Amino acid sequence: MNTGAPKTELRPHTPRVLEIDDSELMHRLLRTRLQLEQVEIHCASTGKDGLRMARELRPEVILLDIELSDMDGFEVLHALKEDPVTRDIAVIFISANRETMNRVRCLDLGAIDYVQKPFEMAELKARVRSAIRIQQLMRMLSQRAQLDGLTTLWNRAYFDQRLAAEFSEARRHRRELSLVLCDIDHFKSVNDRYGHPFGDEVLAQFAAILMGGRASDIPCRYGGEEFGVILPNTSLADATEVAERFRHAFESHTWRRHPDLCLSASFGVAELRAVDASEAQDVLLQLADSAMYTSKRLGRNRVSATTFPLAA
Ligand code: GH3
Ligand code: MG
Ligand code: MG
Ligand code: MG
Repeated sequence: MNTGAPKTELRPHTPRVLEIDDSELMHRLLRTRLQLEQVEIHCASTGKDGLRMARELRPEVILLDIELSDMDGFEVLHALKEDPVTRDIAVIFISANRETMNRVRCLDLGAIDYVQKPFEMAELKARVRSAIRIQQLMRMLSQRAQLDGLTTLWNRAYFDQRLAAEFSEARRHRRELSLVLCDIDHFKSVNDRYGHPFGDEVLAQFAAILMGGRASDIPCRYGGEEFGVILPNTSLADATEVAERFRHAFESHTWRRHPDLCLSASFGVAELRAVDASEAQDVLLQLADSAMYTSKRLGRNRVSATTFPLAA
């Protein structure tokens, strides 16, 4: 089953709270008092450790002390906001400082809340709960914006962004990368003959087949009845096999409402090695696309791979 598919990424987990404070007493206090709150609590004693743990744990909420031994809380917050990995974590400042301007500064820098020391535990717990709610909502919204509503696959915007990222990663680490493009055959006539709602059902079924692939595959709806699957660490030969499995699964599917109907799709496969060092990811896309058109031209319901002269 494809665990990289969006559906599973939406699965909720126990929220994580990271406390960055140089006082051992505070660590112990929060550990015992937040125990019953159904959160995972992690503690760091320095700003440096806190930043490292924030990157690794990606907690929902950080409780940040302003007065730390190695750096001040404002510097930590600034570093968190600079890093795309930690930017969206909700930060609650905790400080003994009573000045209004201090609170204003914290909130203006991007903290979500501010708690005055000494504090009532009940209030801190309520503020943590509220920060977790806001943070989870924000994560969900940003993920929704990258999902296709009909098929629940990643959408075109995500595909473009992810392909660019995988392309440069593969280049940098000299890893393999393949791309499969798929287009359902004669889909217009499916709509015309059986109606648009059935056409939608076909698209959802095709997506389900793509989601049933390997865990590392990244299936996306490219647009209309066209799909793209990004395959990191995969050679052209292996990607062709993957595409062949998709092709076969779709061709063999029995349509409950139309048992005599036989549908098919055409596939094009390309790999990074065929792309010149000076060229970018759109060339990989063009290669997969022209391989897909070769499949169409040769009579549809088939997989074509780009051919390219292998380096001597
Ligand atoms: P070919 O084998 O050459 O790919 O032919 P085709 O009919 O599949 O290709 P064409 O591009 O002519 O038609 C694609 C159709 O897909 C037209 C459009 O109405 C339909 N389509 C696009 N998005 C959706 C959708 O979300 N739902 C439904 N039901 N149909 C869609
Ligand atoms: Mg302190
Ligand atoms: Mg098409
Ligand atoms: Mg088509």
